[in-house]
Amino acid sequence: MREFFDIIIVGGGPAGLTAAVYARRAGKSVLVLEKEGFGGQIASAPKVENFPGFAAISGAELADRLFSQAEALGARLELEEVTEITSGAVKTVTTDYGAYDCAALILATGMRHRTLGLAGEDTLSGISYCAVCDGAFYAGKDVAVCGGGSTALQDALFLSEVCRHVTVIHRRAAFRGDPILVDALRKRENVSFALEAEVVALTGRDGALEALTLRHLDGRLETLTVSGLFEAVGQMPQEVLSRQLGLADEGGFLRAGEDCRTAANGVFAAGDCRAKSVRQLTTACADGAVAALAACDWCAHMS
Ligand code: NAP
Repeated sequence: MREFFDIIIVGGGPAGLTAAVYARRAGKSVLVLEKEGFGGQIASAPKVENFPGFAAISGAELADRLFSQAEALGARLELEEVTEITSGAVKTVTTDYGAYDCAALILATGMRHRTLGLAGEDTLSGISYCAVCDGAFYAGKDVAVCGGGSTALQDALFLSEVCRHVTVIHRRAAFRGDPILVDALRKRENVSFALEAEVVALTGRDGALEALTLRHLDGRLETLTVSGLFEAVGQMPQEVLSRQLGLADEGGFLRAGEDCRTAANGVFAAGDCRAKSVRQLTTACADGAVAALAACDWCAHMS
């Protein structure tokens, strides 16, 4: 006999944990399943300055607080990877450890890192997607950051504190990220920019990254010797489960409106994985609340 929960939430980032808080406060039994680490991508943000109520807080602390709040309210939180979902009046969620049943399901699966798609990207050491997690390994070394969004800019600022030199490589001349971060970076003496340039190849020695080949707008190739490449070229939806359920749009995002209801009865979408235009921490939390209340309604309708 499988364990039954009123609501199962897949994904333990800000959307999923907020949903857990709301659902527990409404008295529902709640299981949150997370495959990597609670807090989601925000957990690796060095500093969050746009979450209401906190002038500045580290992503890790915010993630800890969200986790503790959901746990204290009685949500069950498990590190398990969901491999299959069967939808119906009772939904069965299968993980790498077991299977659970629920009345309502909230998918809050977030996003994953986009990669550059270069040979050696998966096998060479020295490729990272998280400056806060891995920056210390490159203390005193030369590194590069690829990307022109706020993540790349924040990563470069963080790395400039620990590394000897940081090269920011961006395919355009204008940055997509916050101008305040661009100004701060321009003031750092150990930061330089390779603009209108793309990384086209990785060179390694003994399994470790040694150099990048950059191609400039005029076609000129340049070799940049670095010990680390931090890729910050945006994110893509975690689309495996949404495609499995037939709920994904052409980009892999979950089709659901502002009410977070998908086309499948009792299945709700919350956070960055939902097809929408604004993906911020605050909108992820807002989705979590909306999805949880809709899921509670669904449970009431089923009982
Ligand atoms: P992003 O804003 O989507 O930026 C991705 C960057 O990668 C863009 O500059 C893009 O170039 C570049 N790029 C994409 N594909 C590429 C490729 N194949 N080769 C080379 N470059 C490529 O992603 P993000 O920086 O991760 O930010 C995501 C969201 O989180 C944004 O809404 C951002 O504002 C937010 N964020 C907020 C904070 C904060 O402190 N509040 C911090 C980090 C992120 P183009 O510009 O040419 O498209």
